[in-house]
Amino acid sequence: MALVNEHFLKLPNNYLFADIAKKVNVFKVTHPKNKLISLGIGDVTQPLCPAVVDAMHKAVDEMAVKESFRGYGPEQGYDFLREAILKNDFRPRGIHLDIDEVFVNDGAKSDTGNFQELIRWDNSIGVTDPIYPVYIDSNVMIGRAGVLQEGKWSNVVYMPCTAENNFTPQIPEQQHVDVIYLCYPNNPTGTVISREELKKWVNYALKNDILIFYDAAYQAYITDPDIPHSIYEIRGAKKCAIEFRSFSKTAGFTGVRCGYTIVPKEVTAATLNGERISLNHLWNRRQCTKFNGTSYISQKAAEATYSPEGKEQVRGTVDYYMQNAAKMRTTLAKLGFQVYGGINAPYIWMKTPEGMDSWHFFDELLYGANVVCTPGVGFGPSGEGYVRFTAFGSHESTAEALRRIENWK
Ligand SMILES: *Cc1c(COP(=O)(O)O)cnc(C)c1O
Repeated sequence: MALVNEHFLKLPNNYLFADIAKKVNVFKVTHPKNKLISLGIGDVTQPLCPAVVDAMHKAVDEMAVKESFRGYGPEQGYDFLREAILKNDFRPRGIHLDIDEVFVNDGAKSDTGNFQELIRWDNSIGVTDPIYPVYIDSNVMIGRAGVLQEGKWSNVVYMPCTAENNFTPQIPEQQHVDVIYLCYPNNPTGTVISREELKKWVNYALKNDILIFYDAAYQAYITDPDIPHSIYEIRGAKKCAIEFRSFSKTAGFTGVRCGYTIVPKEVTAATLNGERISLNHLWNRRQCTKFNGTSYISQKAAEATYSPEGKEQVRGTVDYYMQNAAKMRTTLAKLGFQVYGGINAPYIWMKTPEGMDSWHFFDELLYGANVVCTPGVGFGPSGEGYVRFTAFGSHESTAEALRRIENWK
């Protein structure tokens, strides 16, 4: 008899976006004439830039002839892309990494979910709250998170990030953790971490032998020169941090699929006997067994984001979204809402008026303004009383959504 992994059964049945879709469907069926605008799910809407499209066409043509056809590529990714990553994303920031510390993947979701396989099931994790759901859910699946009680997992240490603490998580001095997940710029709050604050986390990790899983999927949206793009800008981080990156939000690759993970050779975890094991070596072993690389076409597309034209075009799209963010910030603030984020990230995090709960506000906005947002509580208990708006819409639909909110309020 095959016994099921019952840890999966602990996960609440409905995924946040499935709940939203259900409510939206009910609205559509009961209001067939009203056209909704979604500022909900965090997906991009602008097409791929010309440099990327050209590179993909060329890659397809190469695949079409015998002489340049390619089958399985290296599990770690092609060197042309790994080299371009080092040359463009790290060296200009004074970060020197080896090419075999770069692992190209099919997007950051897979690796942020999978990397926890390298640590024992009984390690404890700490997360900022609210949080990208993948981090906790992937730990639930392996039995590391404990049980869900009143919206919190029993073996997870939550570090609240709210308006009250200026969205700055406090180091959990009183509780034991082995692994900390940090995501900056943050999804869902759109807030960032300063160099000083990030330094505190790295020093805390080094002092207490803690691993940091750092998700920098939104680093391309940073506009403030004092905000770090990579955790490796902080001295010592190469000893304690893994960094996840993605082309999804940077260059509209949510459908193309390509990202990468940096696993420095210095990062280790201990065996029960106290022997230190290189996570770079372990991750390589894991990838060679379970992953067969992301497609050549996707990797060529990713490489093209680093060409001079590619860089400029990608920048153009990021700027386009950030114009939405700026407009959303100012309009919502003018209407009297408390808004956060949206300066170094494509998300606006908004406090609901008069302490209304997230889902209640979601319904009011849906039926009152015909605009879809994401209820903050879906990202964790500290998200209650907030909603998230994305800046990934078109200028037209974003402006129209803001007009509707203005008329409704
Ligand atoms: C969108 C997103 C990612 C990227 O996911 P991909 O699998 O690369 O598309 C990673 N982390 C966070 C926090 C995100 O919001």
